[in-house]
Amino acid sequence: MSWDFETEPEFQKQLDWIEQFVHQEVEPLDLIHGNPYEVRDPKRNALVKPLQAEVRKRKLWACHLEPELGGQGYGQLKLALMNEILGRSHFAPIVFGCQAPDSGNAEILAKYGTPEQKKRFLQPLLDNEIVSSFSMTEPQGGADPKVFQCRAELKGDNWAINGHKWFSSNAHLASFLIVMVVTEPDAPPYQRQSAILVPADTPGVNIVRNVHVGVHGGPGTHGYIHYDNATVPKDHLLGQRGQGFAVAQTRLGGGRIHHAMRTIGQIKKAFDMMCERALSRHTQGSLLADKQMVQEMIADSWIEMEQFRLLVLRTAWKIDRYKDYLKVRKDISAIKAAMPKVFNNVVSRAIQIHGSLGVTDEMPFVGQLIESFVMGIADGPTEVHKVTVARQVLRDHKGTTDLFPTTHIPKLRAAALKKYEGRI
Ligand SMILES: Cc1cc2nc3c(=O)[nH]c(=O)nc-3n(C[C@H](O)[C@H](O)[C@H](O)COP(=O)(O)OP(=O)(O)OC[C@H]3O[C@@H](n4cnc5c(N)ncnc54)[C@H](O)[C@@H]3O)c2cc1C
Repeated sequence: MSWDFETEPEFQKQLDWIEQFVHQEVEPLDLIHGNPYEVRDPKRNALVKPLQAEVRKRKLWACHLEPELGGQGYGQLKLALMNEILGRSHFAPIVFGCQAPDSGNAEILAKYGTPEQKKRFLQPLLDNEIVSSFSMTEPQGGADPKVFQCRAELKGDNWAINGHKWFSSNAHLASFLIVMVVTEPDAPPYQRQSAILVPADTPGVNIVRNVHVGVHGGPGTHGYIHYDNATVPKDHLLGQRGQGFAVAQTRLGGGRIHHAMRTIGQIKKAFDMMCERALSRHTQGSLLADKQMVQEMIADSWIEMEQFRLLVLRTAWKIDRYKDYLKVRKDISAIKAAMPKVFNNVVSRAIQIHGSLGVTDEMPFVGQLIESFVMGIADGPTEVHKVTVARQVLRDHKGTTDLFPTTHIPKLRAAALKKYEGRI
């Protein structure tokens, strides 16, 4: 029987180092640099590369990967404890070599790429010399992959890709894209798609525009792409024809829980700021922290945050235990569905407690609020994950053909009376 909540002292030392390193060396980058993925920007590289070298020296680089790919082969539980620290900073995942979508795309390439493709794309990706994009969502629909229309047709020895994709994050910086395309239009819906590796410099990969998330017209990072007869060799198919969804699952299972782990970091950040403000601001003769409605906000936030964290940690533990994402589908969908709500609740309360300052761009809350909505949309909307949870849960239950429930008290009482007949 082992069921405890302690961290091994050796690993705790690593976590302590990560915490102070992220706080002192990495979080400041969030304030002075734009996009962590700008791998071609020499100024960004001058700042980021020495930090990455430090992380490698501590043997903390790409901990999600197996040692043969240059990682540490950490289980999900260790990753969870680590990622909840990294989640505080936008630059931290890049500095530690575990940023999405590159982490998932690397797993796909490692599993399905040819030796030549691995040499050209996988190694530089693992080294963060290049970045990548995952191109699946289309303008007419993201939550329902059955409506995807972007086609690839085999013409001789090449795939010719035609169609539109929407929200391909980092496409403008990527050296390659993994594109989900219909190759088997007549197959059942979930066997129509294939995954194809497309080098970003392939003629016909046209970025219509880069869409920006949020209210300011900042530089967009989510590519609206028109594939206009973009042609790649036949061997750029990743996995089997029609098996695109199975290939995509290689990245999505791990990807979703890693987002959840990092989101804990953001929630904790908002929570800490909320507490500091409550303990600093006076109004009507007392500290905010002394007012019961403020205390309620703090208590509710702590409870929701800790509940969510425990669910994430238990899911991570289950993944390590079963080594099978299918066995934790319910758990992963549950944390995916819980995440935006907890994040949104805690940030909203942090804004409220900060008053006018909370809604300005002098505090990070508005960005976090948008991020909380993103968490409810990207990688599948909350509704879809709730459906998964419900379906999986209902598998462990069954209905009754009786007119009344099996727990109907008169029926149970009659059975109990019969059981103890003559003794009561
Ligand atoms: C910041 C960000 C980054 C992203 N990065 C990428 C990327 O790199 N690559 C990529 O391919 N895509 C990416 N996406 C796209 C993302 O995967 C889609 O937005 C998502 O799948 C939802 O698709 P949609 O936006 O078309 O919404 P729709 O499919 O139009 O759904 C809209 C809404 O309808 C409701 N809904 C949908 N389905 C159901 C249902 N079954 N039951 C009840 N209600 C439902 C939900 O409220 C949902 O939010 C990203 C999105 C964001 C916001």
